Amino acid sequence: MDNPSTTGAHIIAKTLKELGVTSVFGIVGVPVSDIAEQAINLGIRFIGFRNEQAASYAATAYGYLTGKPGVCLVVGGPGVLHAIAGVGNASANNFPLLLLGGSVETHQITKGAFQELDSISLLAPHTKLAVRPPNALSLPSIIANAYRSSFYGRPGTGFVDLPADIITDPVTSPQEVEKTPRVHSPPKGGADETRLLKVVDLIKNAKAPLVLIGKGAAYARAELVIRHFINKTKLPFLPSPMGKGVVPDSHPQNVSSARSAALKSADVVLILGARLNWIFHYGEAPKWNPAAQFIQVDISAEELGRNAGNADLALLGDINIVVPQLSHQLGAWSYDPSISPYTATLSTAKAKNETTAAKAATDPSLPLTYNHAFHTIKSTLHNLSPPDEGAIVYIAEGANTMDISRSIFPLEHPRLRLDAGTYATMGIGLPYAIAAHEAYNAPNTRATPDRAPRKKIVAIEGDSAFGFSGMEIETMSRYGMDVLIFVFNNGGVYFGGEGTGEEWERRYGRTLRGEGERGLRSWSLGWETRYERMAGMGGGKGYFVRTGEELVEATMKGYKDNVPVVVNVVVGSGKVEKPSFGWQVAPKKTINHPKL
Ligand code: ADP
Repeated sequence: MDNPSTTGAHIIAKTLKELGVTSVFGIVGVPVSDIAEQAINLGIRFIGFRNEQAASYAATAYGYLTGKPGVCLVVGGPGVLHAIAGVGNASANNFPLLLLGGSVETHQITKGAFQELDSISLLAPHTKLAVRPPNALSLPSIIANAYRSSFYGRPGTGFVDLPADIITDPVTSPQEVEKTPRVHSPPKGGADETRLLKVVDLIKNAKAPLVLIGKGAAYARAELVIRHFINKTKLPFLPSPMGKGVVPDSHPQNVSSARSAALKSADVVLILGARLNWIFHYGEAPKWNPAAQFIQVDISAEELGRNAGNADLALLGDINIVVPQLSHQLGAWSYDPSISPYTATLSTAKAKNETTAAKAATDPSLPLTYNHAFHTIKSTLHNLSPPDEGAIVYIAEGANTMDISRSIFPLEHPRLRLDAGTYATMGIGLPYAIAAHEAYNAPNTRATPDRAPRKKIVAIEGDSAFGFSGMEIETMSRYGMDVLIFVFNNGGVYFGGEGTGEEWERRYGRTLRGEGERGLRSWSLGWETRYERMAGMGGGKGYFVRTGEELVEATMKGYKDNVPVVVNVVVGSGKVEKPSFGWQVAPKKTINHPKL
């Protein structure tokens, strides 16, 4: 730091560069823009969003995909408040995030300054470290510590509050600026050997064993050790929604299509990078076998023993170390499926569920059902890019959209599917798509070793979920991100503007059915809103689709287009009783809100 005009902004940018940061997500105003400009001068990409919420979500997903903290830069006050959405997302999902937020000049604190917010008090309970540097000289070590703590141990958020004067004032003694400490990859620990032996015994004696693979395993880049373990032990496995692809979905021991049967029957469950939270029904009956014993493998000691977990059987350590330890102790042992009816039960359930799914895939009704539409998109995309190439990243959000699509798009490689995650956060779709584009396709990064070949990013959005961050299409256009977005348009939240039916009458005690009236009052959005027209605002393309043939054509074109594309697909769930008026024609009014 021997430049006489050095400022805090300069030091912050240089620190980020020295930490190896290649992309920063955010929205800036004066004076935080100084940091962004200095960072761009140093060759860091700055992705400017339209709302801090979206920027912070993108940074969390970038952290998950790259295994290093995603960096988000925002202004103080409302900027930090909006970005808190990403802080919640990071802690719920255990994604690493470094949040840098501007704040008022130090001599104005508590005086009611412009956009003043005590963000340290606000964020301290929700972050791993929340700190305000006392001066510009200490910025390198403070930022490096926040960066380090966000991904050492269980990932979360490191927050640095940056007063305006520290950002802008010239540094009078640049020779005293601290050096940026080197931040190495997080150290990894292995499991206690005594426990390991106990657990190995349990696995060997299991009649109905099951391995759960979660997004912690994908984040840990543990695919090699887990694939080896699964192949060697012949244990059945079940991935969580974002754990898909750690072991290929096509693997014969994958019991995803017999999920309920596996949960009900398993007696010994080895958990690799997943939690016994709502996603896995807390490990409790009736979804699970009440006698099931859970062996949790986790880097977080606090997680062990939670819900149905038994801390006495848990292995504290990194999956990359613990799984080979288990493998070693199990020696040549492998599971013998003939010792119990478990495997036969799973095979029967698998065959039954796959037949039902195949039938749903070709349901000819209109509006298109979710199942039919997803299968149409899947087969069209697979013709363009077979799954074993791993060249498509899927993002999914929305209630029906995410739930139904989850089982339809198979993954052969890890970290190719992002969804609303542990927090069930709606609004992540477009930001995560931008993050994935940045992680896999950014021109000047080698952020992920597995980024070749270039990947196509496909976002599968419910129409309601799309609304949370729809403006980020402009961001995609500005940065030349050719994301293919499908909006599943059923006119609202959940069952949206679909028919009203007896169920609603029973629950809410009034008839909503009638000419021009659709869906629940509180769920409905505009009917057949033309979301695809938003793509055009920045040079993207839009397609409006009602039929399977139109969907195939739009998918093929959209995949090849090198601009953001929105395919607006009119769908129905097929679950709600259909109203008495025309389902196959547009309604009389363009927008039919239910009468209040
Ligand atoms: P999912 O949503 O896929 O079920 P979760 O996010 O609930 O997954 O759980 C992921 C778990 O993985 C977290 O408890 C986290 O602490 C753990 N984890 C993350 N990285 C590692 C690692 N390297 N080794 C072991 N556990 C890990």
